[in-house]
Amino acid sequence: MSRPPRYHLTSYGCQMNKLDAELVESRLVAAGYESAASDADADVVLLNTCSVRQHAEDRVWSRLGVLRARKRREPGLVVGVLGCMAQEHQRYLLARMPHVDLVVGPSAFGDIDVKVGEARARNAEKSGDGKQGAHVLAVGEGVSGDAIVRDPRVRPHRSQAWVSVMRGCNMPCSYCIVPSTRGQEISRPIDVVVEEVQRLCDDGVTEITLLGQTVNAYGRDLSRDVTLARLLHALHAIPALRRIAFITSHPNFLSPDLIDALADLPRVARFLHLPAQSGSDRMLKAMRRGYTVARYLSRVEQLRARAPQIALHSDFIVGYPGETEADFEATVELMERVRFAQSYVFKYSPRPGTLSAEQADDVPEDKKAERNAILLQVQERHIQADAQALVGTVQEVLVEGESKVDGRWTGRTVHHRLVHFPSSDRVVAGCYLPVRVTQALGHSLLGELLAEDHAVLPAGATA
Ligand code: SF4
Repeated sequence: MSRPPRYHLTSYGCQMNKLDAELVESRLVAAGYESAASDADADVVLLNTCSVRQHAEDRVWSRLGVLRARKRREPGLVVGVLGCMAQEHQRYLLARMPHVDLVVGPSAFGDIDVKVGEARARNAEKSGDGKQGAHVLAVGEGVSGDAIVRDPRVRPHRSQAWVSVMRGCNMPCSYCIVPSTRGQEISRPIDVVVEEVQRLCDDGVTEITLLGQTVNAYGRDLSRDVTLARLLHALHAIPALRRIAFITSHPNFLSPDLIDALADLPRVARFLHLPAQSGSDRMLKAMRRGYTVARYLSRVEQLRARAPQIALHSDFIVGYPGETEADFEATVELMERVRFAQSYVFKYSPRPGTLSAEQADDVPEDKKAERNAILLQVQERHIQADAQALVGTVQEVLVEGESKVDGRWTGRTVHHRLVHFPSSDRVVAGCYLPVRVTQALGHSLLGELLAEDHAVLPAGATA
């Protein structure tokens, strides 16, 4: 009896891409495909791509180059490019990499199994008559509602799940390709999200992360009454849910009702990803971010007045066209002032098709690298000081699994901080444990287990 066809999928880019990967995998598994341990064992190799950073695209081009040689040897192999690069580059992608069989944009993920089946059938025909040139191309405008529904059983961790609450973005940020690859904002109704989360909880999930490109703009395409704060309240009523996080927020939509929800709902996670991007008004205007530094700081102050325990995370871009030393100094100043718990710093790279790509990329690479290193050093100092301040405190840790260091386990606090602690017979992934922090280790913490009897075990666990 012949074995089921096997696929191998690699995701590049953000959490939204990883959730898309779950959707794609769930469709393939439902259609009878098996997951392969590696590319080499797969009949179908899929790359789920991201166009937001040049680096992510470069990795995909290089991987496709490697797959070309294998495709020559195995013409029946299906090579597929999914996601934002597929949407953005379509024909160019097929012209540069003619061995690619399948190009599927995010709007067509709903029937990915059918598209993969078509590509396999075409390859079988091609192998028979030796002809080249048949590709399956499925890209479209916007995002279909079906595309954001996925099988809740397919997820990387038993206790944790990502839940897409909206897709697309209506913001005009000058450097960003997302609005053209992901389309306009489409939110899922509150009852649909609640029902999905309830099903996840029935299947053992206790922590969810709500995903959206601008997640705190959630609902504005539906009605004035539908907001992220309302959604958080509705989800908070699900008893089995212990943690609710959400990413990524835009400073413009950090509304008073959302601040209240963060302050008042104890099971909403204690961190907020609120990308500032720059500390210079001139740069923020050029980036079309829609706020000033003063406005950003005033939102942070409002938040901290109501919910001082929230850890703030940010993104920064260095070397945006026209960024001067003074602009950069202003960014350092903002970082020093807010003291983020974590920041991702990116060196600007122009993305074809964006507004900023029409401007000269005039900050030299070595200057970008220097600014990148300086910001990372400042952030590092804040991380170390934060971690040091936690030594001696007791944190509730959601156990994620065994650490890479022998004999230790790893989990996260409600502030999303990584904690390692010595193993114990009673520790299982998915349980919540009290851990006393004993040492600050760079980007993580070391701790000791307290009273294991207080562990909250995941549903069905018997450890
Ligand atoms: S808010 Fe700006 S940076 Fe974020 S996805 Fe939308 S356009 Fe891109």
